Amino acid sequence: MAEKTLNDLFLDTVKDIYYAERQILKALPKMARAAQSQELKAAFEKHKSETETHVERLQQVFELIGKPARGKTCEAIQGIIAEGEEIIEEFKGSPALDAGLISSAQAVEHYEITRYGTLKAWATQLGMKEAADLFAATLAEESATDMALSDLAGTSANTKGKKKAA
Ligand code: FE
Ligand code: FE
Repeated sequence: MAEKTLNDLFLDTVKDIYYAERQILKALPKMARAAQSQELKAAFEKHKSETETHVERLQQVFELIGKPARGKTCEAIQGIIAEGEEIIEEFKGSPALDAGLISSAQAVEHYEITRYGTLKAWATQLGMKEAADLFAATLAEESATDMALSDLAGTSANTKGKKKAA
């Protein structure tokens, strides 16, 4: 068997995040429907359209490296999304629901942030400037989303979550 290189690791990781992004695309409308506050609904909807762009950027990366756009099952994102679904079920109708939705959405963003941070570094290492720029663009949007979610948690969801349902 041929020795595996950073190029192989790079391709595997692109496939991992491609799978993850497409799962996230399916999860975000459910999160938006479940959210109680209009601001949180709007935040999930906005990030859904950004996520469509993330999928397209990954398709561009597959093109750049001359490989078919194909995902590879990512159990990490499946687990994070499953936890979010559990929160939706268990906290339905509760004032803590939005705080829970934000916490699971931030777990998703942090997963993406580690992946894109790594991919950007590897693309740079491998001399793939165009791919590195695509990863950097997505990374900036994931980080901005994470910060926006922190703000929403700080301004309303967490305090509201402490109150008993009226
Ligand atoms: Fe994304
Ligand atoms: Fe994201």
